[in-house]
Amino acid sequence: MPTELTAVCVFCGCNRGAHPRYQRAAESTGRLLAGRGIALVYGGAQSGLMGAVADAALTAGGTVIGVLPRGMASREPPHERLSELILVDTMHERKALMADRSDAFLALPGGLGTLEEAAETISWNQLGLHAKPTGFLNIGGFFDPLRAQFDHMVDEAFVLPEHRAGIHFDDRPERLLELLAGFDPPRAHKWIDQGP
Ligand code: AMP
Repeated sequence: MPTELTAVCVFCGCNRGAHPRYQRAAESTGRLLAGRGIALVYGGAQSGLMGAVADAALTAGGTVIGVLPRGMASREPPHERLSELILVDTMHERKALMADRSDAFLALPGGLGTLEEAAETISWNQLGLHAKPTGFLNIGGFFDPLRAQFDHMVDEAFVLPEHRAGIHFDDRPERLLELLAGFDPPRAHKWIDQGP
């Protein structure tokens, strides 16, 4: 049974990256969410791909909710046109609030912050702490090494195939939204050595 997506959290770089295709992908993701009436929840910054996805969603008439730690606002200034800006005290509060306000997560190309945020949402599924899917927008093969690493974790018996199967990679944001909406939370627990 597909889930209706009303808000999707996007994780992505606060830098633009080395190739214009990343910015184009961020813009098309923002337009897509706005066009589908899905609110964008993100880290609230103006810079890099974060700013690009928010700009595109706002320009297309979408709702954009930014969540920014107060102490970071000087280095990562907030976007000026947000539908809602929520200032929090810590990075942990930021991630918790972004997760609470979203039905699913989409990771676009980014750096260590993006990786950390996406890794948390995936690992929480396998712990059963939430049942919200994560997809990776694999523009230009950006996430191929990460996909290979996840497969390697399965091959080496640290991650169950059922948990790996719920992590989607695609270079088309439309397709990723379909996959996220069709997410069926895995019922298996993560302690492989303890048996089913
Ligand atoms: P990056 O992918 O490194 O460009 O970072 C993207 C966003 O993730 C930026 O807004 C960072 O401030 C944010 N970020 C980095 N580390 C964390 C973290 N541990 N928790 C929450 N946000 C983070």
